[in-house]
Amino acid sequence: MTTTIETPILIVGAGPIGLALAAELGRRDVPCLVIEQSDGVIYHPRATALNARTMEFLRRLGVSERVKQDGTPPDFPHNVLYVTTLKGNEIARIERPSHGARTPSPISPERPQRCNQLWLDPILVELDKSFPSVTLRYRCRYDSLKEENDKVIVTAMDLTTETPVTIAARYVIDCSGSHTSVRRQLGIAMTGAADAEHHLSVFVRAPELWKQHEKGKAALTFFIDEKGNWRNLVAIDGRELYRFGISGKEFYDNPDAVDVEKYFTEAMGGDVPHEILSVIRWAARDIVAEKYRVGRVFFAGDAAHQNHPSGGFGLNTGMGDMDNLGWKLAATVQGWGGAALLDSYEVERRPVGLRNISQAFNNHIDNRDRVSHPDIAKDTPDGAAARTRMREQILSSQPAMVLTDGVALGYRYEGSPIVCADGTPATADTISLYEPTTRPGSRAPHAWIKEGQSTVDLFGKGFVLLRLGDDAPDAAAIEQAFRQRQVPIETVTLTNPDIVKLYEKKLVLVRPDGHVAWRSDTLHQDPLALADHVRGGV
Ligand SMILES: Cc1cc2nc3c(=O)[nH]c(=O)nc-3n(C[C@H](O)[C@H](O)[C@H](O)COP(=O)(O)OP(=O)(O)OC[C@H]3O[C@@H](n4cnc5c(N)ncnc54)[C@H](O)[C@@H]3O)c2cc1C
Repeated sequence: MTTTIETPILIVGAGPIGLALAAELGRRDVPCLVIEQSDGVIYHPRATALNARTMEFLRRLGVSERVKQDGTPPDFPHNVLYVTTLKGNEIARIERPSHGARTPSPISPERPQRCNQLWLDPILVELDKSFPSVTLRYRCRYDSLKEENDKVIVTAMDLTTETPVTIAARYVIDCSGSHTSVRRQLGIAMTGAADAEHHLSVFVRAPELWKQHEKGKAALTFFIDEKGNWRNLVAIDGRELYRFGISGKEFYDNPDAVDVEKYFTEAMGGDVPHEILSVIRWAARDIVAEKYRVGRVFFAGDAAHQNHPSGGFGLNTGMGDMDNLGWKLAATVQGWGGAALLDSYEVERRPVGLRNISQAFNNHIDNRDRVSHPDIAKDTPDGAAARTRMREQILSSQPAMVLTDGVALGYRYEGSPIVCADGTPATADTISLYEPTTRPGSRAPHAWIKEGQSTVDLFGKGFVLLRLGDDAPDAAAIEQAFRQRQVPIETVTLTNPDIVKLYEKKLVLVRPDGHVAWRSDTLHQDPLALADHVRGGV
């Protein structure tokens, strides 16, 4: 006999996206259950680079300071190095300051940070546990589902007691990563480059590695050899932990036969004190699910899109899914979300998935010359010339891979059914540059209201109607219409001339996820229709 657990929302998978989504629901007092097949311990590091938008979400969740504390030390530079070996020749470098050494960012209250999932996931677990409405259940594996009337009936397995568990949920969110069985069972295919690259990832401890060579600290080091191979070393904690990457199908196919010590020592340019902690293999793909929703089941994070890690877009794109879906699920469960609100998730997020995945694809496919460079490591005039040519090539293409403010902050919800387009032309959508705008669908821009308080901090629970300037129209009618539909809304008046200019219009309506829903210099003619439009009312 199994008892059925009832929950409005079941999240499958306690990776960073499932955990963050649970926190997003938890802080809105929305009940949810997260099931995770593993014991939650991370044995091998994956994502490290958190972009400014992810940091804004973590700020909203109240843990951004903790992430900074537990991540890479603030004085560790984010530099990217291109070398033949660590003790050999430098080919190029892209200087990026440490997050502690920069002047305040003009585009976000937060800067990109380096905090590996080894520390990020436990912070999110602790956060989830602080919310009474969130239940985390480890060693519980999702097995199958069926939709019945207005419920999804999930069969799972408690792996500790080896007993089946039945869960009845209004909605299931598949956050179970690239190996998702939920999406596969529902027959949703992925499109894109399914076989982009094959890798071995070597987790290694090398205390104060920078003291073993002359090139200084770097967040990311690429080793380029005579045959055109690119290997890499990612600083995980800025102290002693690294991930060394060896790419090639031959290594992936037969990992046990690979002399990892030899390749690591070669890249270092000789012996350095180190200890190999673990080796895994992984295949890079640049693919996006054909659908982000099937009935009452939604896909988010790696279950919906997977990309090559160059550029660090994977976790960050998933966090955007979480941001978009969190308030819509809460609104639906709480009863103020309209019938079409959840439909907008796929319309808004799938294009962002396609955009970011194509950027990641370009990063690792187009920007690298894999032809051989026989002289590259030689201390001869030919060697120097080969390195100069390579430097020029790297500096013309690689900065886009590591300077990604446009990807992080410039995504927008074009053509969304719950955004009121105003016919203004779109701002440029580039990988590196972010152009602040309140054009509907865009992220409402950052500006400091006072020390420590950003405009971004105003958003996150209900809608916020910004009145900008002393002459902004009285917007009581809009607030009243939203209240009539039980939609949470707050009106905030800002008169700082810089913010008034930045926000472009006198009235800007911002959604709970911080994206602009509507803007105008005059009051909306039909405030109730506006409320219905942006809450997905039919
Ligand atoms: C080498 C490498 C480096 C990377 N670096 C970066 C980076 O710097 N920045 C970045 O943004 N991204 C990076 N990524 C990508 C990033 O790791 C992923 O995008 C991110 O982990 C996805 O999170 P997720 O929560 O969607 O899925 P996952 O982290 O894969 O979590 C899914 C969870 O679901 C669980 N699960 C699976 N099946 C079931 C089931 N049947 N029942 C219950 N639980 C289940 C799994 O055990 C797992 O815990 C990197 C990836 C790799 C491989």
